[in-house]
Amino acid sequence: MAKDQEIIADVVKRVIEELAKGTAAGTGKDFTGLYATVDEAVTCAVEAQKKLIEISLDVRKEIIQAIRKATLDNNEALSEMAITETKLGRYEDKIRENILCATKTLGVEDIQPAAVTGDHGLMLLEYAPVGVIGALTPITNPTGTIIHNTISMIAAGNAVVFNPHPTATQTSTRLIELFHEAIVGAGGPPGLIGCVRKPTLDTAKEIIAHPKVNMLVATGGRPVVNVVLRSGKKAIGAGAGNPPVLVDETANIRKAAECIINGASINNNIFCTCEKEAIVVDAVADALIKFMQETGRAYLLSPEEVKKVTELVVTPEGKINGEYIGKNVQVILRDIGVEVGEEQRLAIFDAPKDHPLVWLEQMMPVFPIVRVKDVWEGIKFSVEVEQGNRHTALMHSTHVEHMTAFARAIQTTIFIKNGPSYAGIGLGGEGHTAFTIAGPTGEGMTSARSFTRQRRCTLVESFRII
Ligand code: NAD
Repeated sequence: MAKDQEIIADVVKRVIEELAKGTAAGTGKDFTGLYATVDEAVTCAVEAQKKLIEISLDVRKEIIQAIRKATLDNNEALSEMAITETKLGRYEDKIRENILCATKTLGVEDIQPAAVTGDHGLMLLEYAPVGVIGALTPITNPTGTIIHNTISMIAAGNAVVFNPHPTATQTSTRLIELFHEAIVGAGGPPGLIGCVRKPTLDTAKEIIAHPKVNMLVATGGRPVVNVVLRSGKKAIGAGAGNPPVLVDETANIRKAAECIINGASINNNIFCTCEKEAIVVDAVADALIKFMQETGRAYLLSPEEVKKVTELVVTPEGKINGEYIGKNVQVILRDIGVEVGEEQRLAIFDAPKDHPLVWLEQMMPVFPIVRVKDVWEGIKFSVEVEQGNRHTALMHSTHVEHMTAFARAIQTTIFIKNGPSYAGIGLGGEGHTAFTIAGPTGEGMTSARSFTRQRRCTLVESFRII
């Protein structure tokens, strides 16, 4: 008898210890949101998603609120971690990125049903969850993409298993742990968000192939978008861009200069939406460059410096030298022997049409300016340099017909007029934010509704009450 009591006491003690550690006693499963294997993460996500759709929408809203709060409460530490680990971007811009995602990603309000009534009764259209989503996230926005994806996907009633870029493992897994804790704290089921402790290309492939992952979302370059599109599963692809900013002779040139510096230098140009080259009508090109210099934040490279910088940041094979992606302009210029003050944000230069940085997605604060004869040549050339990415384009103009003609010709997902690029993702511009901008598959600025499947419910001859 004494022996039995001892055994019972021991079991109780171990259960209490397990609970205190935040693990699920008896299951052997780790419920911090981090797992040893993809299969464990997916298995827990399947169970959690079933529970999520059983609990009330009010609790789901509280979960979303808790994720927003966890982001804002930990913003400084997460931003610092992202910069230290990835060595990309600027601390103050990561702070802005995280606030933007926490506050302007749509939640449960985005999946309001639609109804049609008529002579034959009622049709109700609801946005139902897809189940478990596998999400691959980029090195450039390890926090922003995970914040936006988590809020949107869970608001729509899904569970999500992430495979972050391996170079952002520490930041991404910390964020996922924080979100897991917030979700459970708000009454959500453990396992709703998950990730393997060591994400690799192999774990990404496992997620893509896992039979219980219902949908894939790739935010990254064209190759990974193509991989998920070939998977045979429903997939959203948010790929690379090369956003041109076209400036015509009718623009407010001083304002354009200010906007272009702000947009092209945010986070050292690593946002996929950042202006990557300016295409400027010759009559106003000198004024634009002069006004950019006058801000004290743009350094005009001499022809010799252009040659040196190009050799530094573009490899002999014609690719971007990854060493310089996301670096401060001071770091890049120092390596060609030029010292500039801390206030400088962007190195600008007069570029011929065939300069490699006009065509490559540089993701660094070195910015080509190409002159064109008139707006019509500018529109044609901008369409060419956008390269069919259907991503982002910008224009500074006050001429309605020019703006309309450019928007029609370029066919991008985001088109910004008379503002910096980040206005197009809701920072100082209207509308919600998204850090998964799905040009290739057409969902555009994704939100909760993008991660749903539509269900229709028809009631014949009733419920038209007018
Ligand atoms: P990347 O394509 O190298 O990686 C993105 C993610 O996909 C990572 O998690 C990576 O591990 C994974 N991945 C890459 N190749 C894979 C493969 N063959 N199989 C499985 N998984 C694979 O991109 P990156 O360098 O991390 O990020 C920068 C790129 O992302 C830029 O081109 C930028 O424009 C783009 N981007 C696009 C958006 C958007 O919303 N459209 C947002 C942010 C970044």
